[in-house]
Amino acid sequence: MANHEDVYDVTIIGGGPAGLYSAFYSGMRDMKTKIVEYQAQLGGKILLYPEKIIWDIGGLPPTPGQQVLTNLNEQARTFEPTICLNEQIQELIRREDGIFILKGTSGETHYSKSIVLAVGHGIFKTAKLEIEGADRYEVTNLHYTVQQLDKFKDQHVIISGGGNSAVDWANALEPIAASVAVVHRRDEFGGHESNVKQMRASSVDVLTPYCVEELHGDEAGTAIERVTLKDLETEECVEHQVDAVIVNHGYKMDLDFLLESPLEFKTNEGILAVNEKMETSVPGVFAAGDLVNNDGKLRLIAGAYVDGAKAINQAKLFIQPDATEQAYVSSHNERFKEKNKELLKNEKLVHAGTH
Ligand SMILES: Cc1cc2nc3c(=O)[nH]c(=O)nc-3n(C[C@H](O)[C@H](O)[C@H](O)COP(=O)(O)OP(=O)(O)OC[C@H]3O[C@@H](n4cnc5c(N)ncnc54)[C@H](O)[C@@H]3O)c2cc1C
Repeated sequence: MANHEDVYDVTIIGGGPAGLYSAFYSGMRDMKTKIVEYQAQLGGKILLYPEKIIWDIGGLPPTPGQQVLTNLNEQARTFEPTICLNEQIQELIRREDGIFILKGTSGETHYSKSIVLAVGHGIFKTAKLEIEGADRYEVTNLHYTVQQLDKFKDQHVIISGGGNSAVDWANALEPIAASVAVVHRRDEFGGHESNVKQMRASSVDVLTPYCVEELHGDEAGTAIERVTLKDLETEECVEHQVDAVIVNHGYKMDLDFLLESPLEFKTNEGILAVNEKMETSVPGVFAAGDLVNNDGKLRLIAGAYVDGAKAINQAKLFIQPDATEQAYVSSHNERFKEKNKELLKNEKLVHAGTH
C-alpha cells in the first residue's frame, strides 16, 4: 500500500457528475488531480438510472443515463487524473503546514493542497419500507431502484413515495406496465412540476393520502402478491393485487465525516453551506453538486457541472493566487492543442476512408 506523501493540487471526494466534471475542469487548469470514490464504479447517482432518458442537459439530445455515464467517464479521464475506487473517506483534517490529510477505509492516507467535496448525499443509503419482514422480498419483487424498465412490462406496479424519483418512475413505467398506482402520504408531490402534471394527466392511479400498510406474500412466501393500502384520513384499508412494488422513500444522508470533522463545516438546512463561489466555511475546501446549499442552487446534473467548474477555479486560486480567475475556454485553451491535432488527423482519416 503506497502511503508515501504524494501531495496533489486538488483531491475531489466523490465520483458522481459533480466530481467527474470537476476532474476534467481541473485538468484544464493544469492541476495535479485525484478523485476518490466509495463505489467500485464512477458515476454517482446516474448508476441508479442507467435506462432513464435524460433530457435536461444543455446541448445533449435525449440520452440514456448509461450513455451520459460513459461520456462523463471519458471526459473526466482526459487529463489522466489519479482515480481511487472502493475508497470511502472517513476523516478530513488539516495539518499545521496547511496540507489536507484524508483517511480512507482502505487504510491509505491522501495528501492534498485543496479539496473539492462532491459527495452528493454521502454514502448512498436508500430509506427502506418500514414493514417487518419486507426485506425478504428484496430478492424478488420489492425494489428500491429501477435498473431495467422492461422488467415491469405488463405488470401491475405500485410505487410508494412522493418525491422526484417516485414521480419519474411512474411516468417512465406508465406506457410499459399493465397498471401503475402511486401511493403517497400527502396530497402534494415533491417532483418537478411538469412531471407531476404529466403523471396526474396519465392513467397512473394517484392514491393520496395513503400508505402501504402490509405486504402479503404468495404461497411460497417469496414474492409479494397483494398489498394492503391504508387511507390515512379515513383509516380504511384496501387490498391491491400486484406484480411489483417500488419504494422511493428518499435517501438517507451519511455525511458524518464532514459533520463530525474537527474543521467544523457550516451547514444550511442540514446540507453543506457554500457561498456563490462554492467556498465552504473552511479555507481550501470547496464543494459542488447535490451536497451543497446556496441561493438558487440548481439540483440537476447541469447544476453540478457549473458548481464543479466554479469550485475548481477557486481551488486553483487558493493554491496559486496569481492564476487567472477561470480557465481559458476549451476552444482557446493550450491544453487541447495536441489533442485537437490528433482529433483533426483522425477526422481526416475518417473522411478519407469514406471517399
Ligand atoms: C432517480 C433519479 C433521476 C434523476 N434524473 C435526473 C435527470 O433527468 N436530470 C438531471 O439533471 N438530474 C437528475 N437526477 C439528479 C442527478 O442525478 C443529481 O443531481 C447528480 O447525480 C448529482 O451529482 P453529484 O456528483 O453531486 O452527486 P452524486 O451523483 O450523488 O455522486 C456523489 C458520489 O460521491 C460518493 N461518495 C459519497 N461519500 C463519499 C465518501 N465519504 N468517500 C468517497 N466517495 C463518496 C458517492 O458514492 C457518489 O458516487 C436524478 C436523480 C435521481 C435519484
